[in-house]
Amino acid sequence: MSAINCPECEKELTFDYSTRKYFCKNCGIFVNKDEIVKLREKRQDEKYKEKEDSRRDNDYLQWWLSKK
Ligand SMILES: [Zn+2]
Repeated sequence: MSAINCPECEKELTFDYSTRKYFCKNCGIFVNKDEIVKLREKRQDEKYKEKEDSRRDNDYLQWWLSKK
């Protein structure tokens, strides 16, 4: 059994049989497999970008983290 994790928050997704889509109880996104792949790729790009940005703009990162 392979669990698919949410591309947004990394929590385990719940498969909805009637729509054949995946639902995240944590952040509420509702996506099919293709969309998960796309979101994950986008996420990878953002992570890379965040790394680059944090070198210059650490204040923003601190603010973002304290917001959670
Ligand atoms: Zn999620």
